[in-house]
Amino acid sequence: MSKADTNTAHQMPADEQAVDDNLVQRLVDGSPHYVCRHCDTPVAPAGPDWRHRLTKVFEGAPSTAGPHLNDNARHYLDVDVVLRQGFCPGCFTALFTETVPARNGETP
Ligand SMILES: [Zn+2]
Repeated sequence: MSKADTNTAHQMPADEQAVDDNLVQRLVDGSPHYVCRHCDTPVAPAGPDWRHRLTKVFEGAPSTAGPHLNDNARHYLDVDVVLRQGFCPGCFTALFTETVPARNGETP
């Protein structure tokens, strides 16, 4: 018996695939979605753009993450930078935090 076989608390149904510590991929109404592992809420259709399809996203100045981040990225880059943090719409678990180029008014 391997070490993985002894850890039954983290075994998943055959139709689920772990994405990370917070998300699994599962079929919802016949299409693959990322689903919160904590509250079972579908958060977005699975795919590379899932972060932009979340409904609960905070976007603000980089310094809102702490004093170690500079709000004026123009010292180093040709674009403005924002802090984006996405949350599960069911339990508000933080699913990702990133500093990314501003999207010039596009809705995330
Ligand atoms: Zn959740």
